[in-house]
Amino acid sequence: MRVVGSRPPVTVLCGFLGAGKTTVLNHLLTQSEGARWALIVNDVGAINIDARLVAQGMLASGVDDGRKQPVIELGNGCVCCSIKDELAESLAELALTGRSGGPSGEPFDHIIVETTGVAEPRGVAQLFLQRNPFGRSLADLASLSSLVTVVDAAHFLSLWNSRVAKHPPGELESVGETKKDLFDLMLVQIESADLVLVNKCDLVSADELEAVHAAIEGVNGRAERHSVERGQVSREVCLDRQLFDPRASLSGARWIQRLNALAPQPGKFSGATVFKSGRTTSSFSAKYGLSSFVYQARLPFSRVRFESLLRNGFPGLVRAKGFCWWRESPDEMGFLSIAGRRAKVDTLNYWWAALVENGKASLEDRPEMIRALWVEPHGDRRQELVFIGQSMDEAAIRASLDHCLVTSV
Ligand SMILES: [Zn+2]
Repeated sequence: MRVVGSRPPVTVLCGFLGAGKTTVLNHLLTQSEGARWALIVNDVGAINIDARLVAQGMLASGVDDGRKQPVIELGNGCVCCSIKDELAESLAELALTGRSGGPSGEPFDHIIVETTGVAEPRGVAQLFLQRNPFGRSLADLASLSSLVTVVDAAHFLSLWNSRVAKHPPGELESVGETKKDLFDLMLVQIESADLVLVNKCDLVSADELEAVHAAIEGVNGRAERHSVERGQVSREVCLDRQLFDPRASLSGARWIQRLNALAPQPGKFSGATVFKSGRTTSSFSAKYGLSSFVYQARLPFSRVRFESLLRNGFPGLVRAKGFCWWRESPDEMGFLSIAGRRAKVDTLNYWWAALVENGKASLEDRPEMIRALWVEPHGDRRQELVFIGQSMDEAAIRASLDHCLVTSV
């Protein structure tokens, strides 16, 4: 049930430490023009320097006109994961305070959330999409208007170049590894953004700036990109628009689009309908050699051979994601994830074919989407991997993957 009434729009600012989120926020605060905004600032550090800077920004901009412009500090955790519930509660409280006639009786015109450098936009977005057992959702009270990721142009480019060039992905990491890799995190923050602010663009050359845009487009073709100097972005660009779309935003990542394009039924990853994209890369991305392809096979990989392939690396690889079928564990649906040098394999589930073979399910139980891709004698077991890279040698990668296939199952 959706509560009728005004739901304040919420903008979420993500980005690495040092990317300039606070500068962007402070610049936005100078444009509030008397509007009633509330801020939620998250910092995992013991001393919340960001909150103090923000407070100074508010005073400097004259936002604090005596009508109580609250800044809520959420410490000791990250709003996308460990203190997700506290963020939801704070947002609900701010939305309700405005509605029920809090100190001033007026609703907030906008709520801005500044996350920590390690936060993933997807985690925050899910707060608005989930429903509790009573059918209630945060979206009943507040509406997510956009997921904004701020990147530092020079830092982005140096990280990108150091990870994407000739370096090997490295060892295959075991399941359950929780340490976040910087490059992986950077990709994740861009992949579900509605708007990417390429900040400090005055500190790189025009060519470098273009390369940054091309790289971002290669990772997320849906996000809008803006070049920004010293965090100077207008509220019209950053706040006054509805950019978040529950279906499109969470499946904006290039690899999800490629996987969903293969799916005969609603995509697995967006939790929504298939987000189709006719093009794989634009001419702009093509100029920088950014491309993507899907590798599919109906034979298992030898994990031993695959791991040695990973140690040799894939020159130019930015991202690889998708399902894999291992000879060593034929019943488990593997999920491969590579970001630059870091490779990781998880087990998502059991293949439907294994459930049927082991008497846990019947052929009739299979969902429509599984039936559509079923091939006897191994059913839904398959390799389905998306590769995204810059100047990568598709033919060589395909050949090396073929070499990992085992013909005798
Ligand atoms: Zn988090």
